[in-house]
Amino acid sequence: MAENAKNAKNAKNAKNAEDIAVDVVVAGAGACGLVAGLRASQNPDLVVAVLEKSTRDGCNAQVSSGSLAAGGTRFQAAAGIDDSPARHAADILAENGDDRHRPLVEALTAAAPHYVHWIADALGYPLEVGTDMTRHGISVPRLHTDPRRRGGGPLVSHLRGILAARPNVALLDETPVTGLRVAGSGPGARVIGVTARQNGTALTVSARTTVLATDGFAGNRALMREFCAGLGDPFHGGVSTATGDAVAWLRGLGAEFRNMGACLRHGQVTMHGTRVNPNLPWLGAVLVNTRGERFVDEQAHGYSGLAPHVAAQPNERALMVWDDEADLVAAHSEMMRDSAKAGALGSAADLVSLARDVRMDQLRLERALEPIDGRRRLVAPFHYAWLTHGVLTTQGGAAIDTHGRVLRKDGSAVTGLRAGGGTAVGLAGPDSAGYSSGNGLLAAMGMGWIIGNDLAAGTGGGLPL
Ligand SMILES: Cc1cc2nc3c(=O)[nH]c(=O)nc-3n(C[C@H](O)[C@H](O)[C@H](O)COP(=O)(O)OP(=O)(O)OC[C@H]3O[C@@H](n4cnc5c(N)ncnc54)[C@H](O)[C@@H]3O)c2cc1C
Repeated sequence: MAENAKNAKNAKNAKNAEDIAVDVVVAGAGACGLVAGLRASQNPDLVVAVLEKSTRDGCNAQVSSGSLAAGGTRFQAAAGIDDSPARHAADILAENGDDRHRPLVEALTAAAPHYVHWIADALGYPLEVGTDMTRHGISVPRLHTDPRRRGGGPLVSHLRGILAARPNVALLDETPVTGLRVAGSGPGARVIGVTARQNGTALTVSARTTVLATDGFAGNRALMREFCAGLGDPFHGGVSTATGDAVAWLRGLGAEFRNMGACLRHGQVTMHGTRVNPNLPWLGAVLVNTRGERFVDEQAHGYSGLAPHVAAQPNERALMVWDDEADLVAAHSEMMRDSAKAGALGSAADLVSLARDVRMDQLRLERALEPIDGRRRLVAPFHYAWLTHGVLTTQGGAAIDTHGRVLRKDGSAVTGLRAGGGTAVGLAGPDSAGYSSGNGLLAAMGMGWIIGNDLAAGTGGGLPL
């Protein structure tokens, strides 16, 4: 142990062009990388290095809403909600139709209640089940979040703080991984660590296992054009670090990529780049295009599936209108606070002023706000926001098995390499409309949990570490 602490200290203090030897190197300190690092380093005999490209630009987990989807938690039981990993998996598969990845979905949903309990009970981060967080395709309330709805930032800070304090961990910030170190070639190739850059100078890391947790490529225009050309050039609502660095490294290894055209899209992005609470349609909110037409049943799609409907409207925008009753519930969200701060939310005392403020014909607007399918009638005063669509993250990536081992096209696993989160294939299936709320952090934290536990146990999921 003393030796490990010394090794980790050496790694923490690594100077330019120095070689570091560790047991596990994790590329990326976001949702997947932090959980993988925390779980692996529970074994005091392992030295773990976590390399993060940029704390200034950060990770998607940090700008996320921090909603953790998990079925079968003690929080749900206490609220009288009957749920289980099996029900969670069934909901995801019903939305994405991607039966090929059923084993992966089942492995992740089985992990979810465990890491939700661990975050709350062992790591001391406050969580509750959001009974006010209704989403399309989620049959019972299962999104867990902090009671103050502060978003993912405080959760990421909490996890980083615990990881950085571990004596057998070196958390190296502003240290982008630049490539994989590979021994051998062809099917015998094995990954033996990474190369990185620190203060502009090369750093070489040797490791028995390398974990790729660098997220997807939504911030890389060339890769978006290559794989997601059908989406045009949408607003990118995620962090700039998601440049798909791992795609080239994985290509070099002959890894298989799956579902590369799928993204986490969002059809409730304000014109200021913030989002409104996705619960609003279930609270009665109505969407109207600039011609004053209600163009979609607001509850018929998740926010990812809603994006193409908004994209198809004139000027790719739509007005969302809701009332005080809805606002009372929806306002309890970092998304609404961010939108208010950005100046993206408006209010109007009555229909006349609403029509005037949004420059729409009053009669058309009145007709569009008529309730459908027995939904309730909105009552003045009104709240509103102009919305467009965007891509938050990509959902395609490297094919992995249920232990995060990276698979080649022939189905063989690359020795010494694991991947999770946005670097690996996600849970949306082949199309963005298959994305269910909470899938992103489920794929990331769930695989971080599985990989980290394997490494701590020394099992490697059947392979050498
Ligand atoms: C606005 C928004 C809201 C969201 N809300 C939710 C939600 O509430 N619930 C949910 O389940 N999902 C949500 N998501 C999706 C979720 O945030 C992502 O799916 C998840 O964070 C992916 O985890 P990850 O570990 O793969 O990547 P990240 O959390 O993005 O972490 C990747 C890390 O790798 C680093 N990195 C990249 N390249 C390198 C490199 N070369 N070397 C070293 N480090 C590198 C990055 O800087 C980053 O820190 C949201 C996403 C966005 C953008």
